[in-house]
Amino acid sequence: MNKIVIATTNKHKFNEIRDILSPIVGNVEFLSLNGYDINPPKEDGKTFFENALIKARYYYSKLRIPVLSDDSGLEVEALGGRPGVLSARYAGENSTQRDLINKLLKEMEGVTNRKARFVCVAIFMYGDEKFIFSQGVLWGNISHEPRGDKGFGYDPVFIPDGYTRTLAELGEEVKNKMSHRYNAFFELALKMKELGIF
Ligand code: IMP
Repeated sequence: MNKIVIATTNKHKFNEIRDILSPIVGNVEFLSLNGYDINPPKEDGKTFFENALIKARYYYSKLRIPVLSDDSGLEVEALGGRPGVLSARYAGENSTQRDLINKLLKEMEGVTNRKARFVCVAIFMYGDEKFIFSQGVLWGNISHEPRGDKGFGYDPVFIPDGYTRTLAELGEEVKNKMSHRYNAFFELALKMKELGIF
């Protein structure tokens, strides 16, 4: 059985990614980083792609097992694409979800163009400098106030196109079938299948 490490310690994220891949990529045992004692690398890339590649290279070099990594964040059109790669640290190094949302809504005060997108780049590294990648996007608008208590990050202020409720109101079942992460990993799984390894 092939082994693949999903480069996360977050059980939620691990399950989400495994569930997207396993119906497409068969005969694989998925592992998380939880069984390993490895400090995370510094994510100082300027793009989601660079950060995802930093993680893929780092964990592949440490473990020598094929690695799945990703990087994601929110891009707001009226803010020139910010917070982007700084999404998790937008309101400072130890930003809470509330800090992030407060800062975003403050910056968006009086702004009528509320168009935004979540972006996720997913990478599968299966040898030294051998990798494939995909990008997934979820388009929507930033609401005027937070609504809903499900999800994480910017979910309470993000209304996906075609909906009136925020991701935090819609909940995981709806979100996980259309999210940027879903789109990136679904496409990546199809590309993995084409490699002919699985
Ligand atoms: P990372 O890919 O786990 O490093 O995510 C970076 C940051 O982007 C997170 O901490 C969130 O602030 C934001 N983000 C990424 N994906 C989502 C999402 O699905 N919902 C809400 N916020 C997200």
